[in-house]
Amino acid sequence: GVNSVEYITELKIDGLSMNLIYENGSLVQGLTRGDGRVGEDVTANVKTIHTIPLYIENAPPYMEVRGEVYMPRKSFITLNEERDEAGLMPFANCRNAAAGSLRQLDPHVTASRNLAFFAYALGDMQGLEIHSQEELLKQLEAFHFQVNPNYRKWDSIEGVIKGVNEWEIKRHDLGYDTDGMVIKVNDFAQQNQLGATVKDPKWAMAYKYPPEEVETKVERIIVTMGRTGVLTPSADLTPVHLAGTTVKRATLHNMDFIHEKDIRVGDHVMIYKAGEIIPEISTVLKDKRTGKEEIFEMPKTCPICGEPVHRIEGEAAYRCTNPNCGGVVREKLIHFA
Ligand SMILES: [Zn+2]
Repeated sequence: GVNSVEYITELKIDGLSMNLIYENGSLVQGLTRGDGRVGEDVTANVKTIHTIPLYIENAPPYMEVRGEVYMPRKSFITLNEERDEAGLMPFANCRNAAAGSLRQLDPHVTASRNLAFFAYALGDMQGLEIHSQEELLKQLEAFHFQVNPNYRKWDSIEGVIKGVNEWEIKRHDLGYDTDGMVIKVNDFAQQNQLGATVKDPKWAMAYKYPPEEVETKVERIIVTMGRTGVLTPSADLTPVHLAGTTVKRATLHNMDFIHEKDIRVGDHVMIYKAGEIIPEISTVLKDKRTGKEEIFEMPKTCPICGEPVHRIEGEAAYRCTNPNCGGVVREKLIHFA
């Protein structure tokens, strides 16, 4: 048995698991990790992430650093705004945006996406004597990795439960998405004593927070204009309480988005907050359809100036064709101001 156990709780960052291989201090390889398996080689892209050191002084000859690549909420919201203006499909959440950004063929694109990295574990290594998770996190910091500052040590399971409950609310105020908490036995000797099953270690456990989604109804679909003249459909929703605010509108981005999810006026839908801020429709509850739902079509004329609306070949976006459209001028002014 294991007596007087200390635990470490760490926030589970909602991003992409990554293995970084360092040889004689130099970053030589970055590999994604899906379901614990080693995945794609994304070395060139990983090297563009500012919070990943390319060289570590006084590093052991071989070291595998594990952590999470994530997209901060601010970057995510800006990126989706840009995609809306360009008529591209938005990313559903920070995790998808991080994954999409890391799998780019061109590292310059990855570099422009403002990704970041939190380190939390070491895999294979030679020449390092570390005795606990707490010591490990401090060592990673000494190597100039960013370690999520919200980890905490507890001397009882009651404390762990307190920590888990506390962060269920507080996590919404962070600048990045988290989907749970990881609880680890702190002492490595005790970890070894506990061992592992074929699949997972017995000394660590992930607690997942339930995703925040609520049901509401699409009352109508309206069209507004962005500064480049792009007409953006939004859903007016039956007002509903979600993650601290009352939500009554969700962007529908463009016609491709509406078609892909098959969103109709009158539909019952589930909504969530992307990046904790932007209300988004996740799914349509098609079982609740009565047959009275209406398919939305983009208006043929601009809702602001009345001139014809045009869809550019190969783009999801519809634009007003009038260069002097009051809507375009107004949005440009707002953006400028
Ligand atoms: Zn117009």
